[in-house]
Amino acid sequence: MYQVNEIFYSLQGEGFWTGTAMVFVRLGGCNLRCPFCDTDHSARTPMTAAAILTEVRRIGGAVRRICLTGGEPSLQVDPALVELLHGAGYVLHIETNGTRNLPQGIDWVTLSPKEDAAGVQGNGRVVLEHADEVKLVFLGTDVERWASFPATWHFLQPCSCANTDETIHYIQAHPHWRLSLQAHKYLSIR
Ligand code: SF4
Repeated sequence: MYQVNEIFYSLQGEGFWTGTAMVFVRLGGCNLRCPFCDTDHSARTPMTAAAILTEVRRIGGAVRRICLTGGEPSLQVDPALVELLHGAGYVLHIETNGTRNLPQGIDWVTLSPKEDAAGVQGNGRVVLEHADEVKLVFLGTDVERWASFPATWHFLQPCSCANTDETIHYIQAHPHWRLSLQAHKYLSIR
């Protein structure tokens, strides 16, 4: 059984795939406690992999992308779930804090490190060695070592839309970063 917080159909609001339709499978639980966390990642519903697939098909229709998120999805995502969803024809994205190794074969890895964030409870040390994109919540601290993390894209994202101007100014001075906005919040969608 997987402990599921919610499954919903929306558009990706952050990073490279902004604007792309996906089914979001939010898994309950996180190994960190970040003071700025605005996500409800409590576990609500125990579901089998087959039940997750059924719900994804029901709400997602023709869409073929799933974003595995949380909480920290690596606490629960395992080869069996990856194999089932791949076998059903889905492209799998994952949004992770990078503190745990991932099962093989996930198609798009978004690393959102919390290692340097002040006030984080838990061991936020990143063990992943590469990702497709780094998406860093900008808290005004030194972020430059993440700019060279092995990834194709490097995004800075304001913290809950509160420091957007500061983030823009930082990117103007450090143009190897790109801006990621939480577009879903501006659009008032999930
Ligand atoms: S790692 Fe992400 S989900 Fe977990 S507490 Fe931090 S911000 Fe929230």
